[in-house]
Amino acid sequence: MRILVTGGAGFLGSNLCDRLLHDGNEVVCIDNFFTGRKTNVAHLIDNPNFELVRHDVIDPFKFEVDQIYNLACPASPPHYQYNAIKTVKTSVMGAINCLGLAKRTKARVFQASTSEVYGDPAIHPQPESYWGNVNPIGIRSCYDEGKRVAETLFMDYHRQNGVDIRIVRIFNTYGPRMHPNDGRVVSNFIVQTLKGEDITIYGDGQQSRSFCYVDDLIEGFVRLMKQTETIGPVNIGNPSEFTMLQLAEITLKLVGGKSKIVYKPLPSDDPRQRRPDITLAKKYLDWAPTVPLEEGLKRTIAYFKTQI
Ligand code: NAD
Ligand code: UDP
Repeated sequence: MRILVTGGAGFLGSNLCDRLLHDGNEVVCIDNFFTGRKTNVAHLIDNPNFELVRHDVIDPFKFEVDQIYNLACPASPPHYQYNAIKTVKTSVMGAINCLGLAKRTKARVFQASTSEVYGDPAIHPQPESYWGNVNPIGIRSCYDEGKRVAETLFMDYHRQNGVDIRIVRIFNTYGPRMHPNDGRVVSNFIVQTLKGEDITIYGDGQQSRSFCYVDDLIEGFVRLMKQTETIGPVNIGNPSEFTMLQLAEITLKLVGGKSKIVYKPLPSDDPRQRRPDITLAKKYLDWAPTVPLEEGLKRTIAYFKTQI
């Protein structure tokens, strides 16, 4: 198949391009390089089945493709808050442009949604049926509400125009090709520990997240796209839940060194807890994560050692 990946030079996008090419597909990757890097796909440039295009998804684009994966959007809070209006435009106009292309080409189209659609969840763990607890006017809203509108657009193009959609709600994912300055917690803690700097915990460190290794996530993406039983949304994530203090301690144990844990103010609207209910992924995709946190962290630490 010929497959378009938006945001294909980013952390998840570049890992997805690798997988799709490995499976024998042709891949067109479009990216504006806001948080993605050419180095993430440099090893693919000479592959005749791979094409890299600098393009911003808020502007329309035309390709003849069989499938579309829409991943373009900064995912790290400091990056999506840097230009909040642009983040909303990327989510909303990027979704409309992907859906318009899918409508014309009859391509199956995939939306990378997020656990952020649940906001600061009052139900734990979070099933897809939960409508969430999202602040519409806070500093995280550009991302959370942008992604929620994108889901709405996907469902409406499906209902109104019969577009063949798939929606995945991704929970915190980590692994090789995260940017060292990405700002998310796993990369921050590993880079800080490798450099012997203080490990910065925001708040009291008792807030929780559930961390999925990138290879597990990509397997879930491909399975969701292949199957025809559900269009989504489907949670993909690892239900093993850790506090940020536990994550800091595990990182210190694995990296070694003399870093100290320091506490910084908690950013506003930072969710207290997050853990996926993956019943639907198990049922429709026969999917469950296979890489435990310590194993995934070891692989990610090995990657960051080559980067810094
Ligand atoms: P990332 O920042 O590494 O990748 C995003 C990519 O999109 C980058 O290459 C960036 O340059 C590109 N991009 C941003 N705005 C663009 C625009 N207007 N036009 C074209 N390209 C643009 O982040 P990631 O972790 O790889 O996330 C990929 C997708 O998965 C995002 O949509 C994100 O919201 C979603 N997601 C990721 C996670 C996670 O834990 N990694 C969790 C939930 C959702
Ligand atoms: N966090 C932290 N130290 C950091 C970066 C993040 O304690 O250096 C916390 C952050 O406040 C949040 C959690 O780690 O509670 C996960 O943050 P991240 O930015 O990775 O993702 P998100 O909040 O979007 O889940």
